[in-house]
Amino acid sequence: MIKNKTSKVFGVVLISINILSDLSGDPGEIIAVKLNQNEVVNSHLIIEKEGVRYAMIALPFDKQGKSIKFNNRNILINEKNFGESRITIENTSMVNLSSEDSLRVFKESQLIKKALEKYSTEFKSNLSFIIPVKGAISSRYGKKRFINESPRSPHLALDIAATTGTEIVAPERGKVILIGDFFYSGNYLILDHGHGLLSSYSHLSKISVSVNQFVEQGEKVGEVGSTGRVTGPHLHWSVYLDNTRINPESIIKKNFLETIL
Ligand SMILES: [Zn+2]
Repeated sequence: MIKNKTSKVFGVVLISINILSDLSGDPGEIIAVKLNQNEVVNSHLIIEKEGVRYAMIALPFDKQGKSIKFNNRNILINEKNFGESRITIENTSMVNLSSEDSLRVFKESQLIKKALEKYSTEFKSNLSFIIPVKGAISSRYGKKRFINESPRSPHLALDIAATTGTEIVAPERGKVILIGDFFYSGNYLILDHGHGLLSSYSHLSKISVSVNQFVEQGEKVGEVGSTGRVTGPHLHWSVYLDNTRINPESIIKKNFLETIL
C-alpha cells in the first residue's frame, strides 16, 4: 500500500511525499491503488469509496519478478508457481497447423486483439462478478501448458467443465462486442463491461445473443460446448482488465472489491 509521509515545514506548509516502492501483488490479480486528491488518471477503472478514489490495476502474468509503472508508482509483481497442465490433442492438424489454418488463426487473433483494446464508458463495474456457469473447475489460471508434450503459452483463463447445453450467463452487466466461429476458440463471444474490463467465452455449442446487445448480470449468453480445439465440453473463460488477462477466480470471490480496497 502507499505510505504518505507528511512533514511540516516552517509550521505552515504541508509537503506530502509518496514512498512509491512498496506496492506489490501476485500475477493475474487486480490491486486497488489509492489516488491522491487531484491525481489525474487516464483510461483506468476508477472506483470511489467514501470520497476516496482507487484505480484498479491489473498485474500481468508475464511481468513476474518485475515492476510495472502506474503514474509515479512502481508496482512489483511477485513470482508465483501456478503448476502445470498436460493435455493430449489427438487431432494433430489442430496442433501443427497447415498454412491455411495458420493464416486463419492469425486473422482471428487480430480481430480479437482489436476488440479487446476497446475502452468504452457505457458501463462501470463495481467488480462484483458471478460465476458464468455451474460446473467443475477443470483448469485454473496460470498453469504452464504442454500440448502433446510440447510447451505452449500459459493458460491465462479459467476452465469450467459442464455438459454440453449447460447455460452460460453474463457474470456482470455488459455489451456483446464480438461473436465468431474461431479455429481455437470455436463459438466465441466477448462482453465489454466498460472502462477496460472485458470477458470472453470459448467453445460454446450455442450463442444466444447478438453483437451490440446489452446483457444484464445473470442473463443467458449461450451454452457450454466443445467447439474449436478442446478435449471435452467446457467453458474457457477469460477476464481482461486494460488488456491484461486477470485471474477469473479472484474476481468471483465474495466481496472481492472490499477485500482489495
Ligand atoms: Zn481453457
